[in-house]
Amino acid sequence: MDDHTNDDLPCYGLYIDGSWTDAEGGTMPVNEPALGRPMAYVARGSAADVDRAVAAAREAFDRGPWPHTPGHERARILNAIADLIEEHTAEFAELESRNLGAPLRKTTFVDIPWSVEHLRVFAELATIHPYEALPWTDIPSVSWNFVWREPIGVCGQIVPWNYPLLMTIWKIAPALAAGNTVVLKPASYTPLTALMLTRLIHESGVLPRGVLNVVTGPGAEVGDALARHPGVDKVSFTGSTETGRHIMRLASDTIKRLTLELGGKSPSLVMPDADLELAVDGVLFGVFFNGGQSCEAGTRCLAPESLHDEFIERLVTRARSLRIGDPLDLETDLGPLVSEAQCRIVEEYIEVGKHEGARLVTGGKRARVPGFERGPFIEPTIFTNVLNGTRLAQEEIFGPVLSVIPYRTVTEAIELANASRYGLGAAVWSRDLQGAIEVAKRIRTGTVWINDHHIILPRAPFGGYKQSGIGREHGIYGLMAYTELKHIHVDLMQKRSGRVWWDVLIPQSEQGA
Ligand code: NAP
Ligand code: MG
Repeated sequence: MDDHTNDDLPCYGLYIDGSWTDAEGGTMPVNEPALGRPMAYVARGSAADVDRAVAAAREAFDRGPWPHTPGHERARILNAIADLIEEHTAEFAELESRNLGAPLRKTTFVDIPWSVEHLRVFAELATIHPYEALPWTDIPSVSWNFVWREPIGVCGQIVPWNYPLLMTIWKIAPALAAGNTVVLKPASYTPLTALMLTRLIHESGVLPRGVLNVVTGPGAEVGDALARHPGVDKVSFTGSTETGRHIMRLASDTIKRLTLELGGKSPSLVMPDADLELAVDGVLFGVFFNGGQSCEAGTRCLAPESLHDEFIERLVTRARSLRIGDPLDLETDLGPLVSEAQCRIVEEYIEVGKHEGARLVTGGKRARVPGFERGPFIEPTIFTNVLNGTRLAQEEIFGPVLSVIPYRTVTEAIELANASRYGLGAAVWSRDLQGAIEVAKRIRTGTVWINDHHIILPRAPFGGYKQSGIGREHGIYGLMAYTELKHIHVDLMQKRSGRVWWDVLIPQSEQGA
């Protein structure tokens, strides 16, 4: 247990069965990366705590009202939760920026309003009637057939640190909309906005007891326990491919339903006819947004040899003008990375890039920010002459590092774009929209943005091809991933009396008089 008796920092417990409780494992500190010191403590949950939370979620699912609550009532509740976030936008944005290090501009105008919007869309989807009629059939007998959608049960939801509140909403909104109950495990670096939301939900009393449970604690204990727990019916995870693979193995013992949203190495394909001004801004937005800590970040820029030098020159000039600094300053473009450990990973990759022979054209070092000497700030970094087969171009770095890879023909560019174990997102920069759509169709990723990046809409499917994941989040596609489908068959002939039961399968013409 950490000794924190001498400070007055906020301390959050576990949220199980409608109340706050302590963890047997004590607490763990949560850092404010810009200042390099703790800003709160949270419960250090364990497998025993997961047992308690799953039992509460199980009870709420098996015997509570939630799975049978009408869709319009669940919609009202999701909208009430959206209202809670909206009413506290400034507080959420500040807390998110302090805990993650992300610029206040991003948390205020993206993370918080997108969280609200995603909740409201799932509120609307909760009202879709879970019934679908099947076409008329009289083979083998006249019957009425329909499909009924039901919630799956208890969902274990594991969230990464890079978009803490938004990822929490991406998990809980569709699960709750469909009538499931939840055990949520926030990321250990950034659990605070999920806990603030839980506190507001608790105080408002909008959710029945046990429907939402929150267990903080180390991934290897809490996440692991959720992924293997026999009382959990579905696991939904966002994070690294490596951890996703591990979770898939654990979940296989009890054949759990799975949604995995994993790593990426998304290409930004600059076409020879691109509007260079737009492409330069767009490629930088694609890679440096959230300090490069996005699964869909455009970390591989494919640039035509014909434009290469001019493009690089503009890219570098613009990258150098980005402001690194205090995340709470609205003018800041890049705050610190989430942690010292993440910063070291990024520094190691910068060394790897140099050794692999890529050319470092800007950045590559820690940035010193006055007043924030302990913050893990790193300069926006660009490598050129990168070979697509190198580690720099193939591995997810999760920091502000762009690899520019030259190409000669569009066919070669598409092949390079697809030469990756990942398949989450891609961007195409071109003035020719029709041509860009043809390119988009040939790229093996779950999303392709044309002249844009990072736009993840609440009604559009989001997820990965290849090792970027399994399943899709958002919209009706995301909702379906939280339901089981049941076929109900109603025989209308009532003709079995007096005959053996299987006679119904034999055509009338074949049956003797
Ligand atoms: P991670 O290991 O994938 O963690 C994501 C979530 O899974 C966290 O809640 C984590 O808990 C939990 N977790 C960790 N180990 C687990 C286990 N054995 N069983 C079940 N759950 C477990 O990611 P990370 O370690 O934070 O970051 C490492 C790298 O992953 C990054 O450098 C980046 O490349 C990648 N990443 C990708 C995404 C994405 O959106 N694609 C997001 C985050 C990270 P704790 O927080 O308690 O460890
Ligand atoms: Mg990890």
